Amino acid sequence: MRIPHLNLSIGDIILLLFIMGFASIAITPGVVGAPMNETTHYPSVREPTECTNQSVLEHSPTYLPDPPSGTPPTHHVIVTYSHIENTSRYRITFDIPANRTSGIQFELPEQAALVAKTGFESKQGVWNWNKSTRTPSAVIDTNGTSSASLRVRGPLVQFPHGEEWLLAPSVNLNGKNISVRPATAGAIGEQYLYLGPVSVHRNTVGCQEQIYIEPAAAPENSATPPAVLDLLNESARRLDVGAADATVRIFASPTIPEGEHPGWASKNEFVAPAQFHVDHVGRGEIWIHEYVHTRQDFQATRGLQWITEGSAEYLGRRLQMELGLISPREYDVLMSQYQHVPNTSSLNRAPPTSNRSYHWGAAVLSQVDRQLTGQNASVGDLLKTLNEDKQVGRRDAEQWIGRHQNSTSNTTEPYDFHEATFSSSYPQPAYMHSTRYPQVLRAFIFHFGIGTLRGLAGVLSLLFLIKYYQSKTTAKVQE
Ligand SMILES: [Zn+2]
Repeated sequence: MRIPHLNLSIGDIILLLFIMGFASIAITPGVVGAPMNETTHYPSVREPTECTNQSVLEHSPTYLPDPPSGTPPTHHVIVTYSHIENTSRYRITFDIPANRTSGIQFELPEQAALVAKTGFESKQGVWNWNKSTRTPSAVIDTNGTSSASLRVRGPLVQFPHGEEWLLAPSVNLNGKNISVRPATAGAIGEQYLYLGPVSVHRNTVGCQEQIYIEPAAAPENSATPPAVLDLLNESARRLDVGAADATVRIFASPTIPEGEHPGWASKNEFVAPAQFHVDHVGRGEIWIHEYVHTRQDFQATRGLQWITEGSAEYLGRRLQMELGLISPREYDVLMSQYQHVPNTSSLNRAPPTSNRSYHWGAAVLSQVDRQLTGQNASVGDLLKTLNEDKQVGRRDAEQWIGRHQNSTSNTTEPYDFHEATFSSSYPQPAYMHSTRYPQVLRAFIFHFGIGTLRGLAGVLSLLFLIKYYQSKTTAKVQE
């Protein structure tokens, strides 16, 4: 069958419809529903003005600048860290001045193993200097003994290393007047350390100093330190949630860590892959996600365990969009892709680091933010309240949302947070674009990338025009 006037076959028509569909979805914004006017939940309000010095150590060691240039006071114990080449091990060597007689101890990070020691004795998991030498030392394997992985803050993580570099958890040093430094190059944090050549970049936002540790071993096409620091600076201004640390250390990993998660955080420090660009859809959010963890200072219990990861995940995507690093449509794609997480139970019972906590949690919080539209409140304010309360459960969040949500909203009925957390089916996220935008296309765009789809639509259009031109000329010849 052919349409006589245009000389088009059924195949041509299907192709044309396909191109038109693509053009409307992948190219023309707004055709499938205008973006919601919701992009001002997290304006750049103010930089943090009250920071807490979150050192977990009884007496915080002094961290020498890199490369070690300053001379520490002579009465200090100097602890030198060296990587044992091509392994996941490092050695700490203590240099104890003659007048020092006691009070030097350390604890291993979770699941790390002590593989050698001189001058230390263990007492209930704490290694104490036994005074047999003034240069005691210990070798720590950060891959554990029986398992090749470590559990930090719940999720399974694996610290990476190369021939000449190591990213690892730090030992907890305890004692007065202790200075730490890398033997050759690197940066030693309270939670993590990097041994190997680095450049250290600093940025101050209000009372907070953000320190980006850029490894020389990172591949050439990695995210640039200014791009990451700008992002974190902007995130600090938009997250008016309290619990700001005076120092945040960002350890960029030269390789993408294997295991369940490519990044992780503990207290005021975090690790993320250097290769993850800040504007990458589905990857770039990691910098904000881990930064949000540094701004969480509460213990979630009683049905709210999911909120730690859920809020980091949601705010990661949301701020990435509000900062213009991803488009609202890309944000929608990210929010929609996890609806197939097996719905074995509700969010209320989700383990803190399950997929449900991350993705269903993010979806629920997007709905909460929508309900708070026009109420001068946001999920950020909820986080601030949780930070103030310290010990929080589902009912605390439920009551806060009940007090703040928009009861006169133009949506059909007020959002039921209780229902959403107890439901065992996927909570529909609040999309920036209309929900008429089909899920299958969101998934399609996510997997192939908007750029690729636009390219494909372009090529198809061109093919169609050529075909159309050819059919026209053939028709003329026939006439
Ligand atoms: Zn997380």
